[in-house]
Amino acid sequence: MSRRGFLRGRANAVTAAQRPPWARDEADFVARCTRCNACIDHCPTHILVRADGGFPAVDFTRGECTFCGECVSRCEPRALHREHADDPPWTLRARIADTCLAAHGVECRICGEACPTAAIRFRPRLGGVALPALETDACNGCGACLAPCPARAITLQSINEDATNAATEVKQ
Ligand code: SF4
Ligand code: SF4
Repeated sequence: MSRRGFLRGRANAVTAAQRPPWARDEADFVARCTRCNACIDHCPTHILVRADGGFPAVDFTRGECTFCGECVSRCEPRALHREHADDPPWTLRARIADTCLAAHGVECRICGEACPTAAIRFRPRLGGVALPALETDACNGCGACLAPCPARAITLQSINEDATNAATEVKQ
C-alpha cells in the first residue's frame, strides 16, 4: 500500500473523534501524532482522552477547553500546531437540540450561565419560559455548555459540516 493510502486508511479509522484544538487536518494529524500522551497529560481541564488507536480526542463531558494552548506547546511532532497567535483552534460551535428543557416549558438557563462568551442568551417570552438563542459568531466551541445541560441537548458540531448554522434559536 502507498504511504498516502496507508495514511488515509489510518485517518478513516479515527475520523469520528474530535481532535484537540489546533490539530492539523486528520490525515496529517495521525501521520505526525506519536501517541505520546503529552497533550493528554498536561491538559489542565482534563478533557483530552485516548481515543481509537491511542490518538488523543476531546471529551466535552469532562469539561471545557480554555484554549490555554498547553497541549499545542507540549506536542513535539507538531501534530497540534498554531502558526499564528490568532489561528482559530477549530471550527466547532455549539448546537442546542429541541430536547432542551426550556423548549418543553421547563425553566432552565444553565447553558447560558455556563457560557464564558455569553453566546447563549435567553429571550423572554410572554406566556412561557425564556428560550435559549445561540449566537454562533460569539461561540468558540469551548464546550462549557455541554456537560452542565441536564437534558443532554447540546452538541458541538463543525460549522463546515453545517453551513446553515449561522444563528440558531430553540423553537418550542
Ligand atoms: S488548549 Fe488547554 S484546555 Fe484546551 S485541550 Fe489544550 S491543554 Fe486542554
Ligand atoms: S502531544 Fe502531539 S504527538 Fe503527543 S499524543 Fe498529543 S497530539 Fe499526539
